[in-house]
Amino acid sequence: MEEDRPATYCTLNPARSSSVSSDPGLSPREPIFWSGSDSSRGGNQAGWKRVVVVGGGIAGSLLAKSLQFHADVVLIDQKEYFEIPWATMRSMVDHSVAEKAIINHKDYLVNGKLITSAAVDITETEVVTADGRRVTYDYLVVATGHSSPSPTCRKERLEMFQEANIKMRIASSILIIGGGPTGVELASDITAVYPDKKVTLVHSGPRLLGFIGHKAGNKALEWLRSKNVDVLLEQYVDLESMPPANGIYMTSAGEAIAADLHFLCVKRPLGSSWLKQTSLKDCLDKYGQVMVDEHLKLIGRKNVFAIGDITDIPERKQGVVAQRHSMVVAKNLKALLKGGKEVKLGKYRPSMSITMVSLGKKDAVAQLPFTTMSGFLPGLIKSRELFLRKTRKALGLENHGFL
Ligand SMILES: Cc1cc2nc3c(=O)[nH]c(=O)nc-3n(C[C@H](O)[C@H](O)[C@H](O)COP(=O)(O)OP(=O)(O)OC[C@H]3O[C@@H](n4cnc5c(N)ncnc54)[C@H](O)[C@@H]3O)c2cc1C
Repeated sequence: MEEDRPATYCTLNPARSSSVSSDPGLSPREPIFWSGSDSSRGGNQAGWKRVVVVGGGIAGSLLAKSLQFHADVVLIDQKEYFEIPWATMRSMVDHSVAEKAIINHKDYLVNGKLITSAAVDITETEVVTADGRRVTYDYLVVATGHSSPSPTCRKERLEMFQEANIKMRIASSILIIGGGPTGVELASDITAVYPDKKVTLVHSGPRLLGFIGHKAGNKALEWLRSKNVDVLLEQYVDLESMPPANGIYMTSAGEAIAADLHFLCVKRPLGSSWLKQTSLKDCLDKYGQVMVDEHLKLIGRKNVFAIGDITDIPERKQGVVAQRHSMVVAKNLKALLKGGKEVKLGKYRPSMSITMVSLGKKDAVAQLPFTTMSGFLPGLIKSRELFLRKTRKALGLENHGFL
């Protein structure tokens, strides 16, 4: 339900406005981004039903892109860009990766509307945003995945990566807190690019990568130790109760770690807390996940779907899975939008997925359904290029001369 992600260098989202415009439909106080109605690429047609997608991660972005020539699509995201999450760690050590991994929504949403604001309420007919818009919908798709504070604009996000990189270059010792996939990938990327830096990774669990098999965790541990990363298991660093003093961090086991810089790679909460005050509150399970049926429709709702990490489907939360959800809902919505008396909706069937954690730019560890693989081969698949080309292509973006 929760996943880890570094939180050290994040800034806050824009302040939420308490005043709510009562304008019907899409009538905000400021113009919203709109592209297409007078464009040669087609355009929004009168009479099209409106599909509102809340959340512009891989699930929501891909869905909005897929439906933009079939409906009046409105994407609501608190940031004006989509960030490829599996490239975030590498973006900190290699700025050219960040340039490719952070994509303005308007680059692929050429025939839809974009609202850059957090959604704060949902009624039976409207989504209300923090900046006071009331957006009516015929169909609604909730795709707010995991919550992580990020700047609103791409430029600021790129600057954050640059700042993190400058600090990293200056530091001679770096502490990484958390040994899930994020902490492991970050430690491995730092040590691959800066082999002379002293990297320490502290993890509260008995093994790294606790969300996959033992073997995978052991392989990652072996790899990191072979690169001189100091890995401390079964202890943690609590920055709140024990803040660092003079560059010394204390672990729960009383070990002192000297570090010039730290990265917190811990679990981040689901992006569903805001739903608890909405008309969808009854659709949340005890973990805050959105309960969906086999068509990815909310239980008891005719026109509301959910996709991606936020759903209660018992499967590993992964981008590859979120993309499959998008495809199923895109197909279902296209069928519903076409109308007809009896619309037969497609079903989503969870399947075993492969999980890969990169170890630097050449190696990786892969958890396959019945075995574990590590080294150069999985590294070839994931670590070298991090699926950047494939993900950008899924959004219809050209890669010429870029990758
Ligand atoms: C570091 C890292 C590495 C990963 N590596 C891989 C990998 O190699 N392979 C893989 O398959 N998966 C990987 N994953 C997992 C994968 O990234 C997630 O499963 C996937 O991103 C889920 O997509 P999503 O669209 O459901 O949610 P998210 O990516 O969490 O996106 C949610 C979106 O909703 C927006 N949002 C949230 N609340 C609101 C609101 N109230 N109003 C408006 N917008 C809102 C956010 O701004 C965000 O844009 C990785 C994850 C991380 C963090």
